[in-house]
Amino acid sequence: MLALYQMTISSKPLFLTFLFFGCGLFSLDAQILKKPIPDKLVILTFDDAPASHYSVVAPLLKQYGFEGTFFVCEFPPNSKDNTLYMNWRQIQALDQLGFEIGNHTHTHANVSKLTQEEFDAQLAYVEHKSDSLEIQTITNFAYPGYGLNEKALKYLKERNYHFARAGGSRAYDPLTDHPYLIPSWATEESNKTEIIQALEQAKNGQIVVLTIHGVPDIEHPWVNTPIDLFQEYLDYLKEHDFQVISMRGLEEYVDFEQAMIQLSPDYSKKLTN
Ligand SMILES: [Zn+2]
Repeated sequence: MLALYQMTISSKPLFLTFLFFGCGLFSLDAQILKKPIPDKLVILTFDDAPASHYSVVAPLLKQYGFEGTFFVCEFPPNSKDNTLYMNWRQIQALDQLGFEIGNHTHTHANVSKLTQEEFDAQLAYVEHKSDSLEIQTITNFAYPGYGLNEKALKYLKERNYHFARAGGSRAYDPLTDHPYLIPSWATEESNKTEIIQALEQAKNGQIVVLTIHGVPDIEHPWVNTPIDLFQEYLDYLKEHDFQVISMRGLEEYVDFEQAMIQLSPDYSKKLTN
């Protein structure tokens, strides 16, 4: 009897503690998240505008009913062959097919090394080009070469970007990762096991974001994804009932403005691939 009495009083503070922190956690969830993150939510992003994004990737995504974000840039004109990259009419066609076009700077610049004026010019070039082709307004960004710093985040905010993708080879947790430091895994020829294991982490509120370069990537063989391998990933996602969305599709779940208020950028986490 005495034991029961002791248990009752000693469990009181514990209960109150739970109530206090439990409610705190709930309100945080309620503000950053517009609705719960379902398991098996994956975001596919495609970088650098190689021609294969138009000729191979877009038709395959359509075939599987998947969405995706194409982070486009123009490489400097010394590129060995311009036909290896999409032209702006092809980028416009991706938009018209319903895919998202995102900003990857004008010249694939390392934004951590730019002044605000230079960064603005890099962003504005892609924004204006898209605007002149009536491509849906660009709201999302991906850091070329994963180069970033505190100043870059400040400049992105001033230009009203919603989300920005980095690297890091880890899952994205909208309740802890700042919306300008969204981590991703990058696919390459030899990391199929790593990517499949990554996809398994799309659960318990975590989202998996993949960065995919050319399919195939002729100019950047170190980030090449062969067509067969890409199709294996699409089959895997389909067979295992994953929901495949674009970066802008995130807005259905995440209130980026609230996330920006509540979360401070954590540069100690891994952000490059
Ligand atoms: Zn890139």
